Amino acid sequence: MLGLMQDWPLLIHRVIDHAAIQHGGREIVSRSVEGPIRRTTYAKARHQALRIAQRLSREGIRAGDRIATMAWNTDRHFQLWYGITGIGAVCHTLNPRLFEDQIAWIVAHAEDRLLFADLTFIPLLERLQDRLPSIERFVVMTDAAHMPQTTLRGAIDLESWLDGADGDMRWASFDENTAAGLCYTSGTTGSPKGVLYSHRSNVLHAMAALQPDSLGFSARDSVLPVVPLFHANSWSIAYSAPMAGAKLVMPGARLDGASIHQLLEEEQVSITAAVPTVWLGLLNHLDATKGALTSLKRVVIGGSACPRAMIEAFERRFGVEVLHAWGMTETSPLGTVCSIKPAYAGLEGDALLDIKARQGHAPFTVEMKITDDEGRPLPWDGHTFGRLMVRGPAVAASYMRGDGGDILDDEGFFDTGDVATIDEHGYMAITDRSKDVIKSGGEWISSIELENLAMGHPDVHEAAVIGIAHPKWDERPLLVIVPKPGRSPTKEDMLAFMTGKIAKWWLPDAVALVEAIPHTATGKIQKTALREMFQDYHFKT
Ligand code: ADP
Repeated sequence: MLGLMQDWPLLIHRVIDHAAIQHGGREIVSRSVEGPIRRTTYAKARHQALRIAQRLSREGIRAGDRIATMAWNTDRHFQLWYGITGIGAVCHTLNPRLFEDQIAWIVAHAEDRLLFADLTFIPLLERLQDRLPSIERFVVMTDAAHMPQTTLRGAIDLESWLDGADGDMRWASFDENTAAGLCYTSGTTGSPKGVLYSHRSNVLHAMAALQPDSLGFSARDSVLPVVPLFHANSWSIAYSAPMAGAKLVMPGARLDGASIHQLLEEEQVSITAAVPTVWLGLLNHLDATKGALTSLKRVVIGGSACPRAMIEAFERRFGVEVLHAWGMTETSPLGTVCSIKPAYAGLEGDALLDIKARQGHAPFTVEMKITDDEGRPLPWDGHTFGRLMVRGPAVAASYMRGDGGDILDDEGFFDTGDVATIDEHGYMAITDRSKDVIKSGGEWISSIELENLAMGHPDVHEAAVIGIAHPKWDERPLLVIVPKPGRSPTKEDMLAFMTGKIAKWWLPDAVALVEAIPHTATGKIQKTALREMFQDYHFKT
């Protein structure tokens, strides 16, 4: 027997419709790429999105076509997301920080037809356009007054392109499983793979993100996503903020500590989200300027492990609650968020910090398990670690064009490539990426745990740990440090600081000081490049 309720497909444009109807006057504030702050509202943004949808249809764009964007977080980019998906086309966010070869490869693989780009990326695209044959024309996300001379194919500024589109049209209607967004993994682990989100997966993922123990936005929040729209679906924020009616503050191209601080204060932001490197920048800026955070209540930190010292700084010095989160492109991306369940509500001080440094528990829609190399489930005891596997309606079932083959196990779980523990209360803690754990004498050492610990030393700006071949133990940890200006911590300093806080056999065998640690396009420590830097390194015997 079927239920007798209405058929109301979970389509993304229902989100912007809802925001326009219920929260129509709520603002979207953007630092424009041209410079000044631009203000619009959800009602106006919906109208702009409809104009984009209308204009795309006139351009001959059809359901299923891929439309690329290479853009910062701004109102224009936000409106493009809704305009493109509103006719059943697929919004493909390109990560401008990838290598040029990768960008050319990805555009060809996706067969993108149009490319919408911010002014910032014109030089890059002019260099690259001969290698992007599928792109019929480039639309520059600016107005006629700011449009520069460019050799880009068919180039036109967005506002002129929209001339004559009055927005008098309806969204298309189609199956909720229709593709909506395309985002390639950064290829930290091989050639990039396309993750193809559906309308349904994006709506469910955003609703999951709105649960109070996840991001939990309300209509009273002012939300600043520093995390880019072009990286892993902006952690749902382009959907969850309008769903809740929260004010949206978009940082444009300026992601340095001073610029972010200015927006946080001027727009009275209550919740913000980014990777740890962004927060290092903000905390350094606050240190240097003796700045304060007067409106911020919560900061979501994920994408790579959030150092304990960072949680401590936000919570103890600034009174801002840290929500540590874990996820990946393939999980839409939010997989876990570390909010406090009753079991840990009585903890204080360092004991509470220990919990907050974990990656957290899964919201409804995400199921997790940890397994050994043979796929057997491991216990949730907080110390046994194994491969982290996940499943749910917003987890990838396969990659674009079937690349990588069958990616699910017999029970439909996806292997995240991460190694983790889960405790009896369902709190997951990432031990490492499976390729980065250091295998010493048949046992595993977590590079992430050593890094977090080293980051707490006052002379350390950034730290990374890699395994170096060792004749007796297979591999032993090398601690690589970027010191704070004017400091040069020694191996003895670091070992003295770390001793007693971890098992003795985990202590690094050597410490190397460097000027910079290589990062990936998404701001993570690039272990492959770091291992190359140290490929000829030998421990002194
Ligand atoms: P890529 O895989 O291309 O680097 P993703 O953004 O999809 O891009 O990366 C997902 C990976 O980032 C996860 O599998 C995990 O290894 C790491 N990661 C994400 N969040 C955290 C976190 N809070 N702590 C530790 N690692 C994290």
